[in-house]
Amino acid sequence: MIELFNDREVEQMRPAGRFVAEVLTALRAKAAVGVNLLELDALVAEMIAERGATSCYVDYHPSFGAMPFGKVLCTSVNDAVLHGLPHDYVLADGDLLSVDFACEVDGWVADSATSVVVGTARDEDLRLITVTEKALEAGIAAAVVGNKLGDVGFAIGEVARAAGLGINLQFGGHGVGRTMHGDPHVPNDGRPGRGLTLKPGLVIAIEPWFMHTTDAIFTDPDGWTLRSADGSRGAHSEHTIAITPDGPLVLTARD
Ligand code: MG
Repeated sequence: MIELFNDREVEQMRPAGRFVAEVLTALRAKAAVGVNLLELDALVAEMIAERGATSCYVDYHPSFGAMPFGKVLCTSVNDAVLHGLPHDYVLADGDLLSVDFACEVDGWVADSATSVVVGTARDEDLRLITVTEKALEAGIAAAVVGNKLGDVGFAIGEVARAAGLGINLQFGGHGVGRTMHGDPHVPNDGRPGRGLTLKPGLVIAIEPWFMHTTDAIFTDPDGWTLRSADGSRGAHSEHTIAITPDGPLVLTARD
């Protein structure tokens, strides 16, 4: 079921969006050579407790997960691209880290992700991150009243194709609101003019993620972390947005 939220409800979602943005800003500042992924998870757990927020991840146990997630943050490093389960790993020079975070504040959920290189960056990794961010921007720009969901996917897919990247359609964006994952599914590719008509009050997470030289993934033995089939690196960029008569409102925008 696709839920549309009224103006008052969209306003009520702003604190959740702001908090998720604050957490990602803190993570981008904290991520560095020598930092353990478990320290990043602990930092977020502390911020959640201080804010009186509720993690969407810790008890999360969907059909594709082997067991409840158990952590409050997704940390995907290098060939890990989505759903990275934080583990005892110290970030090394040149690592490409993607963090994905969703939580509930005052009954409303926001979801956002970002990628960063720690230490000395490879040009190709910076380019991959930029393409992912550009695809997100293009998807958001297409998320206007009267457009179709296919227009959003097409806008994302076009950026990937222009950069020579493949697109994996197994995981994509989703409706957000009282819970982390709702309808509609928001694929990272689509056909212009097709699919659901976008109406004011639709709230979705748009989340392009791409890998250098493949569109295939496999699940790590940890039961959660999704890795590229060929070992190439991945990047991920996500915002939660509300579709409004004045255009897309990025609830998780960072300063
Ligand atoms: Mg997310």
